[in-house]
Amino acid sequence: MIIQVIWFKKDLRLTDHRPLAQAAKAGPVLPIYVFEDRLLGAEDFSGRHLKFIKECLGELQSSFEDLGGELLLHRGDVLTSLQAILQEVGGFHLWSHEETGNGLSYQRDVQVGDWCKTHGILWTEIPQTGVVRRLSDRDGWSARWNSRMSETIVPCPGPEEIQFVAPETLSKIGHITESPPHPELSNQMVLQRGGRSHALNLQDSFLQSRGQHYQKEMSSPASAESSCSRMSPYLTFGCISMRETYQTAREHRAGLYEIKRDGGTISPGWLGSLKSYLGRLRWHCHFMQKLEDEPSIEFHNFSRTCDGLREDHWNQEWHEAWCAGQTGYPMIDAAMRYLNHTGWINFRMRAMLVSFSSYHLWNHWREPAHHLARLFTDYEPGIHYSQVQMQSGVTGINTVRIYSPIKQAEDQDPNGDFIRRWVPELEGLPSPLIFRPEALTTMEQSLYGCRIGTDYPAPLVDHREAYETARKRMYGLRGTSKSREEANRIQAKHGSRRRGARSWR
Ligand SMILES: Cc1cc2nc3c(=O)[nH]c(=O)nc-3n(C[C@H](O)[C@H](O)[C@H](O)COP(=O)(O)OP(=O)(O)OC[C@H]3O[C@@H](n4cnc5c(N)ncnc54)[C@H](O)[C@@H]3O)c2cc1C
Repeated sequence: MIIQVIWFKKDLRLTDHRPLAQAAKAGPVLPIYVFEDRLLGAEDFSGRHLKFIKECLGELQSSFEDLGGELLLHRGDVLTSLQAILQEVGGFHLWSHEETGNGLSYQRDVQVGDWCKTHGILWTEIPQTGVVRRLSDRDGWSARWNSRMSETIVPCPGPEEIQFVAPETLSKIGHITESPPHPELSNQMVLQRGGRSHALNLQDSFLQSRGQHYQKEMSSPASAESSCSRMSPYLTFGCISMRETYQTAREHRAGLYEIKRDGGTISPGWLGSLKSYLGRLRWHCHFMQKLEDEPSIEFHNFSRTCDGLREDHWNQEWHEAWCAGQTGYPMIDAAMRYLNHTGWINFRMRAMLVSFSSYHLWNHWREPAHHLARLFTDYEPGIHYSQVQMQSGVTGINTVRIYSPIKQAEDQDPNGDFIRRWVPELEGLPSPLIFRPEALTTMEQSLYGCRIGTDYPAPLVDHREAYETARKRMYGLRGTSKSREEANRIQAKHGSRRRGARSWR
């Protein structure tokens, strides 16, 4: 019987894994994961991702062992691995999920496709999210997403339903015994741990209790830490499928409706919170679809009429201060230091960080996008580049939104506790003085033990001035007929067709 090679990529699970389930029905399986040097060395990759992947693979390997098999681990180039398998077993059938990744993984997939054609190998790729390949336009996308998410969850095959290739074959193909080392990460950091068990636990705690005030508490970084689901890295690396996540949340919501219908009480906010959460799961795929449809957005402005806007304004010193959380704006610095420490931060703070870099510092979005990609454990290129461009005002169609770092601090951290925790230089300052430390008098600086320019930096730029300059530049550009034409093109190609959705969504 022909061997079924299952290539694991960002789908590190056995449940709801269609390639695995279908391959297991077709013949003896050979599951493989390749640590690909081209991806490990990329500018959007970091040791945090590698650590998370290794933790996921650890759990995946144990699950395979429970089934009586083994996951083959290789390092280098996937084509070399496929070649080695071909030499050892002759022809095989290759299975994988479709991937909407960065330019490097796209090129790699093209090469694998060509290699398969040359060697007469059948490669079956199966969608794993709501992203649709070769989409002609967005009409009907949402209905398609609903129908994909309603498909039956494919259970993990039982030991009697799966046959693995003989271990001698595996040892002849060769495999690595040690995965590539990730750089030393401070054990002070609290990064999310990889693996399906963590995903299931988090999902459970979110749906049972943490999520009840999600809608109200998602914007403040202090409350978001526990009120947001924190499912993002597990969705990125596929420890759990989007279908499972969506269906579990819907079932939970149906259960709450039932309680309500039967006269029981449910915590106020639960239904609204679940509605917001379910909507965001759809956004996940909606944003990824943009990269699938227009891969060049990893490199270029969505709206080409924005080309030239920031290209000549790079300020390396300011960029480094932003990366280090030393901008002189307490909320920006607290958010960046928190992100560095945890590998995660909530949506509002991500938007504020990018807005500050793009509007206040007027730096081009690409290098900051890489910096954030390396820090986010959940880095997902399709969401990331679409969002970074949106928060930089270069999508051409969404409202220009320049966040005030001072107002965000006042609104999202009214007592200044989050700032005090992550910017200890300011811990002696009471609120509201903590929001604008540069305004302290010399006497106040000595009273509160914080000398501006020595203990804590003066602001890199003046908020008001930077805001006005950025606004003029953006609206100057928006008014041209060329911009409007480009906006129509982008809206037609990428805009949501859902009633009531804002243009970009
Ligand atoms: C500049 C910027 C960059 C971003 N980069 C990424 C990224 O690389 N990877 C990533 O997963 N998210 C990214 N996001 C979106 C969002 O901030 C994160 O998905 C969210 O904070 C993850 O935390 P959570 O799992 O607790 O989300 P929850 O609020 O609990 O939401 C549940 C899930 O819905 C999806 N989701 C939530 N918000 C969004 C959104 N605005 N757009 C698309 N999907 C969403 C995610 O899959 C998330 O895990 C980015 C946002 C911004 C502003």
